[in-house]
Amino acid sequence: MIQHKDLDDPQVREVIVVGGGIAGLSAAIYLGRAQRDTLVIDSGHSMAKWEPVVENYLGFADGVAGEDLLREGRKQAERHEVDFAADEIEAIKREDSIFVLRGQERTYQAQRLLLATGIFHLPPEIPGVNECLGHSMFFCKDCDGFRVREKRIAICGANDEAVEYALGMLLYSACVVIATNGERPHWSGAHASWLEEYEIPVYEGRIDDVEHRERKILSLRFARGEEVKIDYIFTTRGDVFHTELAEQLGVKLDEEGQIEVDRCLRTNFPGLYAAGCVTPANCQMIIAAGQGAAAAQAINRDLFEQSLESHSLRRFREVQLQEEETVPEDGNGQRRKGPSRS
Ligand SMILES: Cc1cc2nc3c(=O)[nH]c(=O)nc-3n(C[C@H](O)[C@H](O)[C@H](O)COP(=O)(O)OP(=O)(O)OC[C@H]3O[C@@H](n4cnc5c(N)ncnc54)[C@H](O)[C@@H]3O)c2cc1C
Repeated sequence: MIQHKDLDDPQVREVIVVGGGIAGLSAAIYLGRAQRDTLVIDSGHSMAKWEPVVENYLGFADGVAGEDLLREGRKQAERHEVDFAADEIEAIKREDSIFVLRGQERTYQAQRLLLATGIFHLPPEIPGVNECLGHSMFFCKDCDGFRVREKRIAICGANDEAVEYALGMLLYSACVVIATNGERPHWSGAHASWLEEYEIPVYEGRIDDVEHRERKILSLRFARGEEVKIDYIFTTRGDVFHTELAEQLGVKLDEEGQIEVDRCLRTNFPGLYAAGCVTPANCQMIIAAGQGAAAAQAINRDLFEQSLESHSLRRFREVQLQEEETVPEDGNGQRRKGPSRS
């Protein structure tokens, strides 16, 4: 049982963003610039950390490290007075119109909530290969197909998706094989005939070992002693979507387990938004960033409409008139005197 420290945040934030990866940071920058009191709570496991050189993010012709994008994104959000908490949220409920979040460290409250909790790509069940992740073992052809052109590529998997991956990789390389790692193939007849048509070899044996040096894969070694030289592995074992918090509120998921959102990134739960890979968006950094920005704009609009309804817009003008001796020029170019404060 988790012991709560006596640190609970008494402040009801206008917005809390759970997840400080690409989507969450992008939302935070927009919310900070919209002058919203925003807190980002992050457990620090963004998938972006796995990518040493992101080559497909707009504006970085020579690539950028995923870690650098995260660090600079956070700096940018902090410049706009967004607060950050290192914590992992375990439970969410709504009391009246306020979201109450219980983290491992403390509890938090907010009027609006954005879930940008991401996903986890399941690595293949092959011993000793995890250190090659992001270097010579990949999950995503849109991210990494280009960088493996004309190399020897193995697709790990035994279903339709693995076959389509292998076929898709033919755009990049003529040397593509499928390794099912001991699993019996369960692709459709149509997929089987495409494999035949395009002469893609299928290895059904269990992979005993992957030979690699300095994170560079060299070959697959099968249980029966066979060895196949390859340069890169792409794996299609599937993803785990971080939707536990959404599920606690009864939020609707789609058939793949992703949080359903509308065009404004609203879930079916009032006041709750979701952005990034945890939604049905294609899991790409630039898309996550775009969704984070769009969600932030929708949240800002939502809070604005709420304050119009409740006549509670911040009354900066009143404060300004009281505090300043003068106010902007009138139509004759004369500076008017502010109201007397005496
Ligand atoms: C090996 C690899 C290489 C990749 N290469 C590329 C590439 O080259 N180009 C590209 O466009 N994309 C690439 N991607 C995909 C890219 O990383 C994702 O699209 C992007 O990170 C998604 O952003 P996100 O904000 O949705 O999720 P993430 O960036 O994963 O952020 C989610 C954040 O939420 C936090 N979180 C989750 N649950 C909680 C909780 N309960 N409480 C608090 N915090 C929580 C996590 O710790 C994490 O920091 C790659 C992914 C991998 C794994």
